[in-house]
Amino acid sequence: MRQTLVMGNWKLNGSKTMVRELISALKVPAAEAANVAVAVCPPVLFLGQAEAELAGSRIALGAQDADVHTEGAFTGENSPAMYQEFGVKYVLVGHSERRTLHGETDAVVAAKFAAVQQQQLVPVLCIGETLEQFEAGETQTVVERQLQAVIDACGIESLQHAVIAYEPVWAIGTGKTATPEIAQGVHGAIRAFLAQQNAEVAAGVQILYGGSVKGDSAAGLFAMADIDGALVGGAALKADEFAAIIRAGT
Ligand code: PGA
Repeated sequence: MRQTLVMGNWKLNGSKTMVRELISALKVPAAEAANVAVAVCPPVLFLGQAEAELAGSRIALGAQDADVHTEGAFTGENSPAMYQEFGVKYVLVGHSERRTLHGETDAVVAAKFAAVQQQQLVPVLCIGETLEQFEAGETQTVVERQLQAVIDACGIESLQHAVIAYEPVWAIGTGKTATPEIAQGVHGAIRAFLAQQNAEVAAGVQILYGGSVKGDSAAGLFAMADIDGALVGGAALKADEFAAIIRAGT
């Protein structure tokens, strides 16, 4: 049985006040949804504060990106080893904003995935097609290429200690959620693709959906057989909305 995981990606949003208020407002909904795993990914600058505010709660901490190096002359970067010191559990890799705005290739994403696992943290591998690729019917080709790059670099078994987030780029921040049926179609095909390589890994890996998930769209998505939770952007910044998504997973 795969546990539902609801993860908030705060992107470049937050302040000390917001971290304190949002985390404080999420503790009760997270405690009440005992069968749902909950995590938040604040900007790196707030990891220390978030770690302290999350103490004693059921909410796990995540980071939004990582460098492939542990330490050294890499100005501006943050490493998985440093995240470990702040109680981080999850690290997003290959978010579409990293792929498009920062030119991260499949090879770079695979190297980050490996670096995160080397520190015993859980990579959340983000994959998904653009609108152009969606309209050209290339969704499956694109997500399989993105997945295979990681499998080639790290092995299929590496997905035993990872999470996959399918996020169609056309649904991110646009208000256009994929319908549960469209999302399930892709999630089911992802699991079938993985099953060709290792049935046990395919059956166990959590596949989250991301892209404009809201309180009122979450339950329909979570009802689908191969949708194991959500990676939430905009709605994760509003306590009520994120709490509603958590509750939808119960
Ligand atoms: P959104 O972002 O929920 O604002 O569409 C999702 C994401 O980018 O992870």
